[in-house]
Amino acid sequence: MATRTSVIGFPRIGKNRELKFAAEKFFKGEITAEELEKTAKELRSYGWKKQAECGISFIPSNDFSFYDNMLDTAFLLGAVPERYASLSLSPLETFFAASHGYQGAAGDVKALPMKKWFNTNYHYIVPEISDDTKISLSQNNKVLSEFSEARSLGIQTVPDIIGAYTFLRLATFTGKKAAEDFAAGCADALSSLAESLSKAGAEWIRFSEPALVLDISDSQKALFLSIYKSLIQKIRAKTKIKIALQTYFGDVRDVYKEICALGFDAIGLDFVEGKESLSLLESGFPNDALLFAGIVNGKNIWRSDYAKKNTLLSQIKNFVPEENIVLSTSCSLLHVPYTTQAEEKISGDIKKHFAFAEEKLSELAELSSGDEKALSENKKLFESERVFKNMSVQKALSELTEDDFVRKPDFSEREKIQRGVFSLPLFPTTTIGSFPQTADVRANRAAYKKGTITKEQYVAFNREKIAECIKLQERIGLDVLVHGEFERNDMVEYFGSQLYGYIFTQNAWVQSYGTRCVKPPIIWSDVSRKGQMTVEWSVFAQEQTKKIVKGMLTGPVTILNWSFPRDDISLKEQAQQIALAIRDEVLDLEKNGIKIIQIDEAALREKLPLRKADWHKEYLDWAIPAFRLVHAKVKAETQIHTHMCYSEFNDIIREIDDMDADVITFEASRADLKILDALKDAHFRTEVGPGVYDIHSARVPSVEEIKTALEKMLLKVSKKKLWVNPDCGLKTRGNKETEKALENLVEAARQLRA
Ligand code: GLN
Ligand code: ZN
Repeated sequence: MATRTSVIGFPRIGKNRELKFAAEKFFKGEITAEELEKTAKELRSYGWKKQAECGISFIPSNDFSFYDNMLDTAFLLGAVPERYASLSLSPLETFFAASHGYQGAAGDVKALPMKKWFNTNYHYIVPEISDDTKISLSQNNKVLSEFSEARSLGIQTVPDIIGAYTFLRLATFTGKKAAEDFAAGCADALSSLAESLSKAGAEWIRFSEPALVLDISDSQKALFLSIYKSLIQKIRAKTKIKIALQTYFGDVRDVYKEICALGFDAIGLDFVEGKESLSLLESGFPNDALLFAGIVNGKNIWRSDYAKKNTLLSQIKNFVPEENIVLSTSCSLLHVPYTTQAEEKISGDIKKHFAFAEEKLSELAELSSGDEKALSENKKLFESERVFKNMSVQKALSELTEDDFVRKPDFSEREKIQRGVFSLPLFPTTTIGSFPQTADVRANRAAYKKGTITKEQYVAFNREKIAECIKLQERIGLDVLVHGEFERNDMVEYFGSQLYGYIFTQNAWVQSYGTRCVKPPIIWSDVSRKGQMTVEWSVFAQEQTKKIVKGMLTGPVTILNWSFPRDDISLKEQAQQIALAIRDEVLDLEKNGIKIIQIDEAALREKLPLRKADWHKEYLDWAIPAFRLVHAKVKAETQIHTHMCYSEFNDIIREIDDMDADVITFEASRADLKILDALKDAHFRTEVGPGVYDIHSARVPSVEEIKTALEKMLLKVSKKKLWVNPDCGLKTRGNKETEKALENLVEAARQLRA
């Protein structure tokens, strides 16, 4: 008999982003809730049928969401903050108010905050629990309705719910009560859910608990045990439904024994990212439980090497009887695009190396059946070298020495030299790089891409924009100027398309959050620069003014983190290859008279390992040097800036200082300037511009407000090291508010100097 197979979750946004477009139309009032529901129903049915066609034995339901599964869970458990509930909107509108914000006849509320989902580029909505929150199963039960919907299509599914431990661990608590105070309520509500699912014909209920792969303290372990002891007991008392615990994104070393002892009917472990999963099995696995063995990578886009997977499987079989093993994806397929079939422009020779969600379903089927033909085809695919090495890249890498990673002279020496060269005022003012990407800017790029205007026309328009932008900055009185980034849409796409080794897809979208999708490019082979990437724009901008214009690049770690990486060479090696390409650009900018160069590392923290013990050896120890590799060779007089955003950096401040940039600008305005304490404690030596206002809102900050923020900063940062800037690029803003905000920013710096 073929081994059974299981999927943790399937993409839901739609092959052509149907859900995104329908939801956005619904937000604008262009379609009704029924029409949106209809689209959703089609998408769910598509996913279930695809999985059924591939013979998947455990097909999930409730993996669909109109926005996010964490928020679904909050609504399922009745943890809806009063300010949304009291709007008295329909359930769907209330859900969207919490996920997306609401401004209308019923009131005006902001959305709940969002955070990165473990080590993925997906973002979940952070549930908010107050002392008054009463956990109870919602009447409006999407778990039940989606299960029944699949059943009416003739498909028996496994309802998958984010487990109470993960839910409570990731939630914020606004009052005195903490996670422990809500554990019993969750167990009650979820046992009622299990009962109703069982009545509706479900054989299984599955709890997804990715938070079990994080570092777990004793009190967190106690929370986990108290939830599941009670939940399992309650479910067993009422029904015969089987209970599965699903984990992913790593191994569960801190609670493995406890998990095994709890009496689950199935346990899902990740053998791709879970480095210790196999050795945990060695210590025992419950005799009568199924093992959902996550062996097909749910996150990357590469074909599985069946020989390797079968070796892994035979190792697993040493500890778990074959009939109890179910082949599974390592995590939800939400993190990969739908199908390679939509990529018409990529040749078959390349495409055969890719496996997106639907291809991964076939992989599960083929691995489970042991189909000879599939095995031998797969063997052939992996026998030959996939790509040829780029010998000049290889040579450059092999010739790297310690010196390539160390900038000389050291920081304080450079600081002195640069003070002499630039003679900037105290509290120099600058911006992060981009200026408003107004409709005309986007239209110009689109027309060029489409071929309806010539390159000359395209360039002429952008030059005009740059000249205007420089004039504006001069009029406002900023000290260090930028060219405005009118030629860029997405920063990784901009650089990736000018690098050898990158492949761009047509339709390989993955959900980043809510209705927002990203289309990461794929690193296919060794990376090198096709030619100069930014020099012409920067030189033109510099020619327009006597003030200094910053060159503007994206750093290697960010480019890597926002791409689908190769899996045949290490991330470290890929980061170094990209770093060498960016280094060439840095040196070209310098040669062409650009005196300050900013190298953005917006996504530096993104791939930081989930367990603290792994931070250095698995990530920071190559990521930080990769950044230094980019700028180590510039002259002492050339000032290197970097910029970071999207997360809190307090716990890696020392490592950031080790990047050895001369100046760093941070997104800090929303994090209540907590970062300032961290800077002070770490004796941060890099000059620093913590953002003085939030660019995500159209609000214009007053001079007073900015001055107050700066005064606060001066309590923690030496006045000689403080820069004044917004907290991120201005591309999503309009011209009007941008001008006013920057005028106020410059005025605040002036008053402070006085
Ligand atoms: N220089 C970029 C900009 O201003 C930085 C973008 C970012 O931090 N995400 O748009
Ligand atoms: Zn930013």
